Amino acid sequence: MRALVITDIHANLVALKKVLEDAADVDAVWCLGDVVGYGPKPNECIALLKEQPNMLCVLGNHDAAALNLLDLSTFNPEARQSVEWMQTQLNAESLEFLENLPEMVDVGQATLVHGSPRHPVFEYLLDTRAATDNFNHFETDYCFVGHTHLPVMFYIHEDDYMAGLTIPPVNMVTHLSPRAIINPGSTGQPRDRDPRASYAIFDTEAETWEYRRVNYDIETVQHMMEDAGLPERHILRLQGGW
Ligand code: ZN
Repeated sequence: MRALVITDIHANLVALKKVLEDAADVDAVWCLGDVVGYGPKPNECIALLKEQPNMLCVLGNHDAAALNLLDLSTFNPEARQSVEWMQTQLNAESLEFLENLPEMVDVGQATLVHGSPRHPVFEYLLDTRAATDNFNHFETDYCFVGHTHLPVMFYIHEDDYMAGLTIPPVNMVTHLSPRAIINPGSTGQPRDRDPRASYAIFDTEAETWEYRRVNYDIETVQHMMEDAGLPERHILRLQGGW
């Protein structure tokens, strides 16, 4: 089975459509959270995601913010403005979808979470020490995470004391061996200075990970954000990938 693994779509409908088109025939779509937040088309992204085959999705911190589950006073002013705008936009179907998202899902040999298996919604997995600890918090061979918006692979093999870290080469197939924690990078707001939409294809039989990047029409999204009155900083960062 070929599973498309995407995360941090952030209401970027243009990027999501491009990724779905580029990934072409997949048997399943696994989304690691933050479907909404920052971007201009939250309802449309949720509706399109719901149409995908064997779709699974977990709860991200921005999805939780949309549901008013977080204290917005901890957000910076622009982030708060963005969340408040989103809350005025979400329709009943979107709210129902977000309300029913689990924090963690096991599917075959994989575990899906937004942040980390230890703290599914909020932990940023950025270093090998945190990754090492997190290998004790899931039972499957592979854990797929989002949240940092950075494509990265942490791996640990039997008798290893510490996890290692690698960035898979773009548009190449990497053969996996248990165990690994892998981030496919962000579809809707990449932060590794590469503005192209990021995603991966996980082949469950071949146990391969194909990490891919694809260009999309960033300007169109920026115009949509301007029309919605969203913060300039969030508009500008899309073209720089930061
Ligand atoms: Zn995010």
